[in-house]
Amino acid sequence: MKQPIIIAIDGTSASGKSTNAKLVARALGYVYVDTGAMYRTLAWYCLKSRIDVQNARAVAAACRKWKTKLECANAGGLRAVRLRVEDYFPEKEIRTPETAAAVPHVAAIPRVRKWMVKRQRECVQFGNLVMEGRDIGTNVFPETNFKFYLDAKLEERSRRRAADGVQENLAARDQRDSQRATAPLMIGLGAKVINNSSMTSEQTSTAILEEIRKRLAAK
Ligand code: C5P
Repeated sequence: MKQPIIIAIDGTSASGKSTNAKLVARALGYVYVDTGAMYRTLAWYCLKSRIDVQNARAVAAACRKWKTKLECANAGGLRAVRLRVEDYFPEKEIRTPETAAAVPHVAAIPRVRKWMVKRQRECVQFGNLVMEGRDIGTNVFPETNFKFYLDAKLEERSRRRAADGVQENLAARDQRDSQRATAPLMIGLGAKVINNSSMTSEQTSTAILEEIRKRLAAK
């Protein structure tokens, strides 16, 4: 059987991963997977269930027991994977400042990461993927040839988040994500690093697509 192609897009918070991963997925007709949304969903679930996100045992137990389902939905021409929880798909709820602040805590728990990586690998059932996150090229699909690492200056990233109406301490979240012991944020071996501080998303996604085509041709 032909192996699905995995495009891994990692990087710092608000570095344009989502926008560009969606543009690339649309251009290639691949399935888009937002792994940050999966971690955010667990953080939201813990907050909702009054589970202390700093209590690793309690969060890991909740993650073991919650009833979830991975599904691939078509949203305006883009096929995207989402995680349903107890037959509900939280969308807006996972983007609040409270969830953003809670998520690095749940994401640092090794048993949570193990659960998430397993689900993320299962996404190949849906076909070729453009998967964005923090550890896709280093941990989820380290064997893929298509790795990208996006970054931009902190002021620019904060400006982008503020333009989306979200005020948050991105530096603190990046620090937690980079310093955790399990699967920290880092540049994967062979990843193409793109600093897009002064690039538009059109320019960034074009650079990614050019590199993918180059690497596909060299296969
Ligand atoms: O990408 P997004 O900002 O939605 O990610 C939210 C958080 O989820 C990150 O700050 C990080 O703590 C966690 N995350 C992770 N590994 C991933 C994706 C997200 O640890 N692959």
